[in-house]
This record gives sequence, C-alpha cells and structure tokens, in this order.
Amino acid sequence: MNFFEKAKNILRFAVDCLFPRCCIICSEKVDGDKYCNLCSHCVAHIPWIGNQKCSICSRPMGEEKDAKGEKLVCSECRECPPPFKSGMACWLYKGVGRDIILTLKYRHADFLQNDIANLLKNHWPSVREFTENSILVPVPTHYFRRLGRGYNQTEVISNAIVKITSGAKVVSMLRSKHKKSQTKLKKAERLLNIKNMFEYSSAGSISDKNLRIVVVDDILTTGATLRECCTVLQRAGFNNLHVLTLAYG
Ligand SMILES: [Zn+2]
Ligand SMILES: [Zn+2]
Repeated sequence: MNFFEKAKNILRFAVDCLFPRCCIICSEKVDGDKYCNLCSHCVAHIPWIGNQKCSICSRPMGEEKDAKGEKLVCSECRECPPPFKSGMACWLYKGVGRDIILTLKYRHADFLQNDIANLLKNHWPSVREFTENSILVPVPTHYFRRLGRGYNQTEVISNAIVKITSGAKVVSMLRSKHKKSQTKLKKAERLLNIKNMFEYSSAGSISDKNLRIVVVDDILTTGATLRECCTVLQRAGFNNLHVLTLAYG
C-alpha cells in the first residue's frame, strides 16, 4: 500500500467516524468499502434471477423443461415474437430488488449510480458481455416527469453500465410523447397507452444501422414499453436490437 492509499484509507475512516454512511434501503450502517449506500446485508439479499429463464427475453420461468432439449421460450415470446433479438433482466422485483428500484425512481437517488455499477460488476458480470461495444438507449421519460425527478432513472442505469463495460456508450435516440404514466395501469390499458408513446429522436442519430443497440429500462413487467421502443427503432432502420432491465416483476 503506497502513501496515498494509506492517506485515503485514514481519511475515509475519519469521515466514516464523523458521518457514518447509512444504507439507503434499511438505514443500517454501511459496512465495507464496496458500496457507498448499500449495506452488506441488503446486497446479500438481492434476488438475482436464476438460469431457468426465457432464452429470448430473459423472463424467469418455472421448472418446466423442454422435452426435446430446445431452448426455453416464454408464452409471451412464443405467441408474439418481440422486435428485439435478446433480453437481459438481472434481479427479481421483490424484497431488496424492489426497494432499490423504488428508491432509484422516487427518492431522488441518482447517487446510486456507482453502487449499481459495482453490484452488476460483482454479481452479474454477464452484463458486460451483453452490452460490450453497444449503444445504450435509455427508455425516455416525459419532460415534465424528468423535471420533477431531476433525472431519468434509465439514464442512471445506462451510465452505471458504461462505467463497467468497454466500448459501450449512451445515446438518447428516443423521445417520450405526452401520455399517461404506465405505473398504475392494468395490462390491457398499458398496451393501449403505450402505442405511439415514443418517437425517434434524430438529435442522437447513428448512421450505422447495424450497430448493436440495447434499450435500457428499470423494470420488465409486460414488456410493452420495451417492445414499443424497439418497434420505433426498427422503423428508423435499426435491426440489431436488444433490451436490458435491472428488474423483472
Ligand atoms: Zn441495508
Ligand atoms: Zn420471453
């Protein structure tokens, strides 16, 4: 350990003594150096998604096995093939997994960006391969909602991924038109509301339409939002489309 590292550790110890860091989820003291706003207990209880999942959209599936040894495909993808080639979701929207998403969305917690980057790096390294050399397109939020929140949580997630992935960059290629929030709508209402909710924004246009595009959202529920975003990008000429969310539920 060199002089500067020693000095940094002593300084961090002094700051932690004076201003103990508290976990944003459970308010317990943050222990360890890996995370600034999450305690080790909460990190240990994030419900990461297991291997039993849809081979297209990554939706977790039950114990059903395909007798012919074919890849698992969920009923949504089978009945209505999505406009994207593959998807990735990292954890389930329950317990700490749900609390992190809600905190990011409603508690002005864009400062969680570094912790999200470290969580993915330490527990979900396949995200780096999935997003390597990709254009990350955050699902946009409406201007007024962004103004109220001060940031867009899907940009926070995208920027967290850029921190740990080589060759990935964030380009806002979509714009949200004014529509009702999806949060409190039922499935049928969501599908109706989502139609024409987004438009392609030429301000962030990319000339190479074969580039790998990964549309990033906070949570995958019905998949309607991500399907619509990809449809808009498909109409704009992009054909190498993928989706990624932090949570599924
Ligand atoms: Zn905690
Ligand atoms: Zn699927």
